[in-house]
Amino acid sequence: MTKTKRKNIVAGNWKMNKDYSQGRNLVKDIVANIQSPDVTIILCTPFIHLYNAHVKTNDIAMLFIGAQNCHQEESGAFTGEVSASMIKSTGAQYVILGHSERRAYFNESDELIGQKVKTAIANDLHPIFCCGESLEVRESKKHKALVEEQVKNALFHLSAEDFSKIVIAYEPVWAIGTGKTASPEQAQEMHQHIRKLIEKKYGDKIADATSILYGGSVKPANAKEIFAKADVDGGLIGGASLKADDFIAIINSFS
Ligand code: PEP
Repeated sequence: MTKTKRKNIVAGNWKMNKDYSQGRNLVKDIVANIQSPDVTIILCTPFIHLYNAHVKTNDIAMLFIGAQNCHQEESGAFTGEVSASMIKSTGAQYVILGHSERRAYFNESDELIGQKVKTAIANDLHPIFCCGESLEVRESKKHKALVEEQVKNALFHLSAEDFSKIVIAYEPVWAIGTGKTASPEQAQEMHQHIRKLIEKKYGDKIADATSILYGGSVKPANAKEIFAKADVDGGLIGGASLKADDFIAIINSFS
């Protein structure tokens, strides 16, 4: 079991946290304490921090900046929205799409998320595509079917070249912000399932090269065990990405 073909990634999802000065301090603390691990690090910040975070981290080769959403249209009369090209213009290179909070609170459907994925890629951003089931769905044993539907509906319209720009994050909704983590075996089972779907659609080369992250209450104490699984290539970290020490400890759990 090797993981040599894929990038290991630790991405922080700050969600709607940190005002401008707090965000600057968090970036500063991360930069001051980061070692030089063989891990791709992505800070997914609120829009207001993107440019500063990019400028302050630009000389760290393995560290990138991402947003947490973008609009599906290129531009226009969409008051209050932010476009993919605006995000790209800050220096950011990634964007989280399809997070369960956006699905639940902003009614984002697979179809809409698919449109956002297309627009993000057209603007040279890498989507971090989130999928995952609720507790109810897991208890009714339909979790694999649901995640399969989410992945197929939102991503399988892409060409092989465009699909290669995607990072996938499996985030069981019942584990996000709850302190309940999927067991390493539960994570591995779903990641393997997702990789097999990709293989069937795009072939084994692309399936082997796609990084699939686990998200849901990852902490310094449990990261190593989860990341050790064959098909788990890192994590999307919410709460623990808001403290530099915890976030760095999670990154270092790869070493
Ligand atoms: C997330 O929001 O993507 C997430 C995984 O949150 P937490 O780590 O806080 O569960």
